[in-house]
Amino acid sequence: MIQVVSSYQMAVDEDLEVIKNRLVPEGAAFDDLETLPRIAIVSGIHGDELEGQFTCFEVARRINEHPEYLTGIVDIYPALNPLGVGAIYRGIPQFDLDMNRVFPGKNSASPFESMAADIVADIAGATISLDIHASNIYLRELPQIRINEVSEQTLMPWAMESNVDFVWVHGNATVLKGTLAYSLNALDTPCLVVEMGVGMRLTREYGEQLADGIFSLMRKAGIWSGPVAKVRRPIVSVDGEVGFVNADAAGVFMPEVKHDGRVGKGQVIGHVLDAATGRVLQELTSPADGLLFTLREYPIVYPGSLIARVLAMSSSEGVN
Ligand SMILES: [Zn+2]
Repeated sequence: MIQVVSSYQMAVDEDLEVIKNRLVPEGAAFDDLETLPRIAIVSGIHGDELEGQFTCFEVARRINEHPEYLTGIVDIYPALNPLGVGAIYRGIPQFDLDMNRVFPGKNSASPFESMAADIVADIAGATISLDIHASNIYLRELPQIRINEVSEQTLMPWAMESNVDFVWVHGNATVLKGTLAYSLNALDTPCLVVEMGVGMRLTREYGEQLADGIFSLMRKAGIWSGPVAKVRRPIVSVDGEVGFVNADAAGVFMPEVKHDGRVGKGQVIGHVLDAATGRVLQELTSPADGLLFTLREYPIVYPGSLIARVLAMSSSEGVN
């Protein structure tokens, strides 16, 4: 059932609403709901990151197909920034405000701080939650989970079951405290941040891969008794092992690799081209043997533009 999580009256006879779809086991009594395990699946904080839309759809579709397997609560929040999703705009339109900097929010005259507080209150207490992001329009990401090192112990067992390609543990210094994930983890509600795909686009295979992972998490949490796909073992990394590839020249970037796994040290990742003269301005190569987890999608580059990120790995480590 669709429920309103937060509502704000707009100037002319309209309400801005953040909604969720709550799915509960067939025949569950209202009084029982508090005692059931619960997963919160969140997306659309950044309105130009749409990959989570398909994941939300796919999870709901599979549950609708087999409601008899549901043994807990699934809350799907497809668009925490509904104006942004509608306009495919990263922040909150008109306010140019990054919604993922206003958490945990507070009940105040500021509508977006109040909405943030309503959202946190609604998700808090979930057994597990996911906040699904989709990079930006410049970079394509393999499905991955990013974890603040202070939450590593709590989150890693969940992350390992979520069917992503890798898990990136960040140092505490780089963590932003205004994010939804930080606020939920501070309240002892485990929240995994997923990054996958590319901004303003949908990638079906990634959406299906993460949906498989979500059902695996639901099974682990006691929310799903049905069959689940075997999950892949993610590569786990800490900050220091990640190498960056940047452009030195302005031009058009043409990739020479597929974005699906391993690259070797020195392997050509792509070229920066000069469209007017037909010259190749730069050949870009991998700094290490490892996992190519970020690859530039947006073709126009300038000196310094990020082209790729490679997680250094020894050759004995497998990708899946
Ligand atoms: Zn984002």
